[in-house]
This record gives sequence, C-alpha cells and structure tokens, in this order.
Amino acid sequence: MRITADTSVCVSAGMCALTAPGVFDHGDDDGLVAVLLPDPPEEQREAAAEAVRLCPSGALDIRPRFR
Ligand code: SF4
Repeated sequence: MRITADTSVCVSAGMCALTAPGVFDHGDDDGLVAVLLPDPPEEQREAAAEAVRLCPSGALDIRPRFR
C-alpha cells in the first residue's frame, strides 16, 4: 500500500487524522495533512482506506503497493 497526500489541495478538515490517527496527522502550524505511515501495517489499512474515502478535498491517494 502507498498513501500520498497533496498538501496544495488539503483544506485541513481533519477527517483523516480522526479516522486513522496513527496514519495521518496535521502540521502544528498550518493544519495540513502529514502522512505518518505511507505503508501502514495490516491492522491500520482499513482505517487508512476509509480516511482516504472520507477526505472532502480529494487530497489523499492510495495505491495497492509500492512500485
Ligand atoms: S481529510 Fe483531506 S482535507 Fe482534511 S486534513 Fe485530511 S487530507 Fe486534508
């Protein structure tokens, strides 16, 4: 799995960090998304995928695996 975030699109809504707090966080200054675990362990993958689906701005992208 590979998760990336486009901070030029992120609107700091916070949904990702609420849904998958171990995978996403926010910058202290700007509130923009930070991807903590681009390739999360199995037990966090479902929450990570849900966070990507719930992001209101489309800033997050998820792919099956690294290439
Ligand atoms: S849910 Fe989307 S818009 Fe909101 S902070 Fe996360 S990446 Fe940014």
